[in-house]
Amino acid sequence: MSTKKTIRRREFMAASAGLAVAGLAASQRATAATAKLAIDGGAKAVTATSTAPPRFGAPELERLTEMVKQDALFYWKGPQTAIFKERFQAMCPLEHVMTCTSGTAALHIAVAATGLVPGDEVITSPITDVGTVIGIIYQQGVPVFADLGANTLTLDPADVERRITPRTKAIIAVHLAGNPSKMTELRAIADKHGLVLIEDACQAWGAKYRGKPIGTLGDIACWSLQNSKHITTGDGGVVASSHPVLGPKLQPFGDKGFNRSEGKWQGFSTNYRMSEPQAAVLAGQMTRLEGIASSRAKLGNLLNAEISGIPGITPHEVHAEDRCVYWLNMFRIDPAAFTVDRGQIYKALRAEGVPCSPGYIPVPVHRSDVFKNHAFFNGHWTIKEAGMTDMDYTKVETPEAEAILKTGMRVFIKEYMTEEQILQFAAGIRKVAAHYKA
Ligand SMILES: *Cc1c(COP(=O)(O)O)cnc(C)c1O
Repeated sequence: MSTKKTIRRREFMAASAGLAVAGLAASQRATAATAKLAIDGGAKAVTATSTAPPRFGAPELERLTEMVKQDALFYWKGPQTAIFKERFQAMCPLEHVMTCTSGTAALHIAVAATGLVPGDEVITSPITDVGTVIGIIYQQGVPVFADLGANTLTLDPADVERRITPRTKAIIAVHLAGNPSKMTELRAIADKHGLVLIEDACQAWGAKYRGKPIGTLGDIACWSLQNSKHITTGDGGVVASSHPVLGPKLQPFGDKGFNRSEGKWQGFSTNYRMSEPQAAVLAGQMTRLEGIASSRAKLGNLLNAEISGIPGITPHEVHAEDRCVYWLNMFRIDPAAFTVDRGQIYKALRAEGVPCSPGYIPVPVHRSDVFKNHAFFNGHWTIKEAGMTDMDYTKVETPEAEAILKTGMRVFIKEYMTEEQILQFAAGIRKVAAHYKA
């Protein structure tokens, strides 16, 4: 067993170094093809387990203990909020940092700060949490969906550029799954056309683009603290920017339009303030982030290396100099390479013990009923009815995004998993792929 593990480790090292290990891979494939699937009564590929440690403990308790000694639990000049900001800026040195109630709120604040007016367009990803586009619609803007890279699952810059019109105001680059978007290309497009570049980093806490922290590449960046994200306050969000004009707008937009530094009400917006109890938990969570992000990056990369070269399977594509933090890892299945459909491959993988799930959201955002019916405001879409946009979501085509959702398989990576587990997930994928090979 230890020999097997050593060989797989060596294979991983060789694969990451780009060396050929064809002989080893071929013999391994032969073994995999003859092994009986767990779904047919064979032995499971995955036997290793790990236990999720508590997500909250001493660091959060320390902040909460200090917090209950305070006389006020309001965010402005709040000590817990201040400690969070210090810790956040140590990770991501952005000047203006506004805590808020959700990732959706963070994105709404960011969109409002762009200066978008009714009918303006914002180009973004059709595979994302709907929270990415909610703020655009509330500001009477028009979400425009561009297609994605087949294996990066992030915006295809060439398609973004094709969808630019005189009404385009901004681009929201979603770092889906924690994989940094193609920021050099998107930055160049944004600069060329005078657009604001927003980063949706809700799934990308701790990610890095060419060594730089995610959030420092665009003009404004947004994070979610919802329970499923890398770090959490149950619900919550952060929006931040170093932009000299846009940055100072974040605080008032999250606070009913009230500019607290200047003590004046300067505009119309809603209340998205985060209170001190949540900021205390958040400040504690920040001490865990680097460990969570680096572990997920290592485990997700290991899975990619282990499953690369399996016929019919294409691993998640991550740039070698980037740090993807794998909120999820998604490989794609070539339907022509297998005798069964994705549903059967999924069932077989689950039987082997691989924690996975087919696709992500059911359909691209614009294929949902709400979008197809343009039914945002109790069945109405004011700007369309007023002739301020001719957007028709039933006519929007993003073929790669459709294909990703039909042929993608999500593998759930957790920071506390062991390398042995990941190697066994890969063995399970290899075994199932070999068995159903067309
Ligand atoms: C979670 C998420 C959001 C929304 O965040 P909430 O805190 O749930 O409002 C937006 N975009 C992406 C990519 C997300 O994963």
